[in-house]
Amino acid sequence: MATDPLYTSQHLKIYNSLTGEKEAFKPITEGNIGMYVCGPTVYSNVHLGNCRTFISFDLVFRYLKHLGYKVRYVRNITDAGHLENDEEVGEDKISKKARLEQLEPMEVVQRYTVDFHNILNKFNNIPPSIEPTATGHIVEQIEIIKTIIDNGFAYISNGSVYFDVKKFNETNDYGKLSGRNLEDMIANTRELTAQSDKKNPQDFALWKKAEPQHIMRWPSPWSDGFPGWHLECTVMSTKYLGETFDIHGGGMDLKFPHHECEIAQGEAACGKTPVNYWMHANMLTLNGKKMSKSTGNIISPAEIFNGDNPILNKAYAPTVARFFMLQANYRSILDFSNDALEASEKGFYKLMEAINTLSQINTGKTTNGLDVSIWRQECYDAMNDDFNSPILIAKLFEAVKFINNLKDNKATITTTDFEILKNTLHAFVFDVLGLQDVNATSADNTDKLSGAVELLIKLRAEARVNKDFALSDQIRDELAAIGIQLKDGREGTSFTLN
Ligand code: AMP
Ligand code: ZN
Repeated sequence: MATDPLYTSQHLKIYNSLTGEKEAFKPITEGNIGMYVCGPTVYSNVHLGNCRTFISFDLVFRYLKHLGYKVRYVRNITDAGHLENDEEVGEDKISKKARLEQLEPMEVVQRYTVDFHNILNKFNNIPPSIEPTATGHIVEQIEIIKTIIDNGFAYISNGSVYFDVKKFNETNDYGKLSGRNLEDMIANTRELTAQSDKKNPQDFALWKKAEPQHIMRWPSPWSDGFPGWHLECTVMSTKYLGETFDIHGGGMDLKFPHHECEIAQGEAACGKTPVNYWMHANMLTLNGKKMSKSTGNIISPAEIFNGDNPILNKAYAPTVARFFMLQANYRSILDFSNDALEASEKGFYKLMEAINTLSQINTGKTTNGLDVSIWRQECYDAMNDDFNSPILIAKLFEAVKFINNLKDNKATITTTDFEILKNTLHAFVFDVLGLQDVNATSADNTDKLSGAVELLIKLRAEARVNKDFALSDQIRDELAAIGIQLKDGREGTSFTLN
């Protein structure tokens, strides 16, 4: 007899940004879930803030799979149409980078898509089921624009096509996701400039006519141009998941206007609400301010892995950084600091040590010290409560304490309970949280290696003072030959491990 999937006994609740409430989760089709998450605009390397959002949704993906759902997870790559400052006018972010670096736009796209995949792979994120690109769906975008025009919710102006927000709001509710009211928005915006093609400032572009210098352009019934940024997500989500699907996610900063516009486009094109559960992941901050490429207030994942940033006092394993992020609820702001990361590292190694100690535990006739079945259910309760990973981790540390007591013969466990404990711990730590067992020894070895290189840097500096340049060059070159690069700067010499 086939056993029931876990989701029949575990009752998941999801905080729905659309209603502002935690709701019992019910997929459209029993046992199946369609989930769409807005992917990156691939014009630069991802920063740690971007990674937090994708790790938050990796947790969601992993837990849904763990519960036994068949999940189709679609996450796009934005490779056209996203303009500077998320505005309606300005240069395409990818074209701009291509111009500045004298590359083909698709060279920029390729370079940063590869970087994005490499970094998420290091964090042990599971790749999505489908990863569509905006440029691969121009035809579908043109088709949906035609439908929105036919339905009376868009107008053509000087070769561009705009969504008519006022018209839409007569029959629908523009602003329901972000809690805004169109009348207030109108009252608080400046008048349009005379050159604008739009009827109202709130209207947004579905298709933009390309200026002569704009390199990324496609033919359409209205002009040679390019699609609006919001439209690609509507097109790719409905194409692969249907006109209404279960979960749509993204960073909190995308709620308005991006997701608000997606709802409007979906309703205008299909006459149905596109998404049942909207999920928004909160921001990673640095010195209390949002990590953001445009302000330069960022730390890169590579810097975490090699320790090459003045904020850090050492390098950290990717899985430790992942653990640090999962120790916060995905809906809370998380501030990055070396101290916080270092504290997470200590906790992480305690957890791994306890798991590795399991092989040394002897079982007995009774279980004393932890009710294993209740504990297991409490782990599920934490995750069923809108993926509350910090509460789950607190529960895992109750097990760590118990395991340490078992090891010291201060507690006992039966064989049956031991199996439950071990399986539950493995499932939550490795499958659901997606952590990886890098042991403290390898981290310790990295510290020792850093110490040895620092010593060589000191000896090289002394050789230079003594004008023994042959020796100083030999140290630099031979380190380079084994993949350790020395970099001389104003603050002294630093190094990177390749
Ligand atoms: P972008 O490539 O700018 O479109 O961003 C990709 C994703 O990263 C979006 O879902 C953003 O909401 C998210 N994101 C950007 N900055 C941060 C941050 N500081 N913390 C968390 N997520 C962020
Ligand atoms: Zn999107």
